[in-house]
Amino acid sequence: MPLATDPEHIAISKSKGIKIDWKDGHRSEYQLQYLRDHCPCASCTGAHGTPPAPKSAPQEAGNPFMMFKPALKMLAVEPVGNYAVRINWSDGHNSGIYSYEHFRRICPCPACRALFPVG
Ligand SMILES: [Zn+2]
Ligand SMILES: [Zn+2]
Repeated sequence: MPLATDPEHIAISKSKGIKIDWKDGHRSEYQLQYLRDHCPCASCTGAHGTPPAPKSAPQEAGNPFMMFKPALKMLAVEPVGNYAVRINWSDGHNSGIYSYEHFRRICPCPACRALFPVG
């Protein structure tokens, strides 16, 4: 049986993240940083032959001299057709079009992570 990739209900909080209730009753909750890290656009995923952009650089974690970074936010979430949304990030990135299929695939819950171990 294929997974439902039609959302029944979507709750968007620009400062927290997105929650989706799927038609099959499954619920997914995505934190902002998680969504940003799973941006499906070509420059983030390394499609078309470019190597994937490094996710969080290791030196960021333990560097006491790290510059203050404003909290990540979504400035806008625009529907694209009826199959996807485009997210405008506060860091200026806005080329990621998140299809509902992509959302379903990156659902962070343990059950879905077991189904889709990559990422
Ligand atoms: Zn991207
Ligand atoms: Zn899930």
